[in-house]
Amino acid sequence: MRGSWPATSGRLHRAAFETDSEGADAMKRVFTAWRSLDGSQISLVQGEGPPRYANGELQPDCEIKLWRIEVGSYEEAMAIRNRRLGYGPYVPQGEAAACPSCGSMYYPEHSGQCWNCDFEG
Ligand SMILES: [Zn+2]
Repeated sequence: MRGSWPATSGRLHRAAFETDSEGADAMKRVFTAWRSLDGSQISLVQGEGPPRYANGELQPDCEIKLWRIEVGSYEEAMAIRNRRLGYGPYVPQGEAAACPSCGSMYYPEHSGQCWNCDFEG
């Protein structure tokens, strides 16, 4: 069923469910959360970290590694972050859409990362 564009919400739901049942192969992306020594700053970055600028320089206020998670997408990492920090539910920007590669739902206007495959749009 992969790659078919769902025409109705019923088919969409079933497609997502079938995809999820193949979860052993689901995409895993590593995210790590970091905080400053004084606890006033918390940063979430993709990868093992520590957070660095594009030029390789270490970012300030990221001295302590809080946790490491493997999830499907940035949106999933942010949802977990909000839960762990006691924030409200995380709401990604824009509408969800079907991944052009596998048909799973992703957020093209936000991270563009598909939780189920390596597509990043
Ligand atoms: Zn996909």
